[in-house]
Amino acid sequence: MYFVVVFFIIGLVLGSFYQVVGLRLPVGESFINSRSYCPKCKKKLKWYELIPLVSYIIQLGKCRKCKKRISITYPLFELLTGVCFALSYVVFGLTKEIIIPLTLISMLIIIIVSDTKYMVIPDEIILLGSILIVVETFFIKGGQACLTSLFNGVFAFVGMYIVKILGDAIFRKESLGGGDIKLMFLIGLVFSFKTMVVILFLASFMALPYAISVLLIKKDPIVPYGPFISLTAIALLLLKLTDFSLIDLINYIV
Ligand SMILES: [Zn+2]
Repeated sequence: MYFVVVFFIIGLVLGSFYQVVGLRLPVGESFINSRSYCPKCKKKLKWYELIPLVSYIIQLGKCRKCKKRISITYPLFELLTGVCFALSYVVFGLTKEIIIPLTLISMLIIIIVSDTKYMVIPDEIILLGSILIVVETFFIKGGQACLTSLFNGVFAFVGMYIVKILGDAIFRKESLGGGDIKLMFLIGLVFSFKTMVVILFLASFMALPYAISVLLIKKDPIVPYGPFISLTAIALLLLKLTDFSLIDLINYIV
């Protein structure tokens, strides 16, 4: 129980940092030196205004200076990261294997933030995540597992690229962004190819109601697919379903 709380708190703090990275990286703002500020009145935040979750609750979701509302997404992403970290500990325990899911979850949280806000999946995060996961897999699971992981990543990338070419031809416009294809490589490093098909399927299923509602409001809807893929991947990862096929899924439901 003690470690569940520790992992939750680490997740809260990192979740707060990942949001800063996800919001600043695509617009080229520094996220290391400059202090967080209120997006409305630009007031630099004091340390006690930066405590994840706690500050938001104490300040009742308002900036201390300008009293404007602070977006609920801040505490929500902190909470999401905290819960994911705590669940990772419950599922994987204090083993060295836990490093790989924690790395993937961290990268995916940053990607969800950037893709929701700017419709951008930063290349830097794909690159950093891929390098970390390949190196970690090599040292934790050995050379053979590392090669398998790389092959799975490439398969997922190529598979998604083919889906994009078909999609572009059918819809006569860009169906999938380049970021989504690179994202499949990163996630593919951790999942088997057949599970990647499940992830795509479930992500599309989840994105559909959202896409339809956007379609009803806007004429030219652009739906970021990355957050749906990422959330599905995180869920399957925490269920330890990294080698799971569509047929297994159907059998499970029926
Ligand atoms: Zn303010």
